[in-house]
Amino acid sequence: MNQKRVAIIGGGPAGLAAAELLSLSGHLVTVYDAMPTFARKFLLAGKSGLNITHSEDYISFATRFGTASDRLRPALDAFTPDDIREWAAGLGTETFIGSSGRVFPTVMKASPLLRAWLRRLEGQGVALRTRHRWTGFAEEGYVFETPEGRSIVHCDAALLALGGASWPRLGSDASWLPWLSERGVEIDTFRPANCGFVIGWSANFSERFAGEPVKSVTATSEAGSIPGEFVITASGIEGSLIYAHAAALRDRLQSHGNAILTLDLAPGRTIERLARDLARQDAKSSFSNRLRKGAGLDGVKAALLRELVPERERTDPERLAGMLKALPIPVLDTRPIGEAISSAGGIRWSGIDEGFMLKALPNTFVAGEMLDWEAPTGGYLLTACLATGRAAARGIEAWLLR
Ligand SMILES: Cc1cc2nc3c(=O)[nH]c(=O)nc-3n(C[C@H](O)[C@H](O)[C@H](O)COP(=O)(O)OP(=O)(O)OC[C@H]3O[C@@H](n4cnc5c(N)ncnc54)[C@H](O)[C@@H]3O)c2cc1C
Repeated sequence: MNQKRVAIIGGGPAGLAAAELLSLSGHLVTVYDAMPTFARKFLLAGKSGLNITHSEDYISFATRFGTASDRLRPALDAFTPDDIREWAAGLGTETFIGSSGRVFPTVMKASPLLRAWLRRLEGQGVALRTRHRWTGFAEEGYVFETPEGRSIVHCDAALLALGGASWPRLGSDASWLPWLSERGVEIDTFRPANCGFVIGWSANFSERFAGEPVKSVTATSEAGSIPGEFVITASGIEGSLIYAHAAALRDRLQSHGNAILTLDLAPGRTIERLARDLARQDAKSSFSNRLRKGAGLDGVKAALLRELVPERERTDPERLAGMLKALPIPVLDTRPIGEAISSAGGIRWSGIDEGFMLKALPNTFVAGEMLDWEAPTGGYLLTACLATGRAAARGIEAWLLR
């Protein structure tokens, strides 16, 4: 075959997935990464129990990527959640389906999979170059800062898989934005996705309850009513239930300047029943006692009511029951993107062809979280990164054969 030189810039899941296919096709592949080691975000993802994909029915799965679902669909069809499980097993990492439908490696972490993957890539002839920071274009090539100084790489095709803009200290710092914008690539501003939010907690509440989980609640926003749990932080709220509402709350903050997350603190009980039980309590007993005896609430849930319900509304059983079933939490802001699990925004789909090549920069392809899509936590992010990395590799192969 006609062997070509392909530079993959960014050694996260998307870049490594592309390197795998391109090297199997016999191309001379080099993966460059700015950091001293590859795939640091992938490794971090493994620290809290890696969700590598999700087992829900595939038709629903493929709709979890918002407005980008249609554009992502061919890439996802070509590397489905079942394919990911098989691929991981091929690297010695067996997976299981958790009670939530999320798919985890049995070892829960990412490091054994990454080690085996990098070994296999090297075995396939992929050259792996760390401490190579891409810093833009010059002389028809890609400029890198390396420990040995500046170098310019010329290649037949390049894939940029530089990640989004969350957790910049792990490598994906979106420093590439100006170099692509200058070349006419349209990019939507990066915004936090799957992020925490700022709430105006009183100092007393924040000091006492930061780090406290709020379990078995249902939260409602424009994203719908979703059961789950979250965590109180010093400045606000975070955790899986909050991430499920994050895009809706963020977009509402952006469009209206305010947002409300409504909490049902007692999902199993009706408002009528709660009002009746609360009305039976001695009006002279303390708020805490009335809540505990009348509604079975104490600890952080009771504290949330105390924090957010004005004193005058706490005495009327019906109003209190209403607050218990629909407690409005005013959301002030998103937490910074640097703390978010992932980012929304990125390179616009209108600037990319079907093979993931930048229309403004022929021979430069893009994949992974640097593209304009977002998805909930639960394995969707990694699935789309792996799938777009592979789809871009197919795009590169087709383009090199043209
Ligand atoms: C705490 C946390 C937990 C997560 N848990 C999960 C999970 O359980 N399941 C899930 O699906 N997703 C999870 N994610 C998200 C997932 O890790 C990312 O979506 C995924 O890693 C993105 O892959 P990527 O290849 O597009 O980019 P990245 O993984 O960000 O990789 C991009 C690479 O490009 C390199 N790079 C950037 N700029 C340059 C440059 N100028 N020159 C050279 N190299 C450069 C970076 O060093 C980096 O190695 C989690 C994320 C976080 C932060």
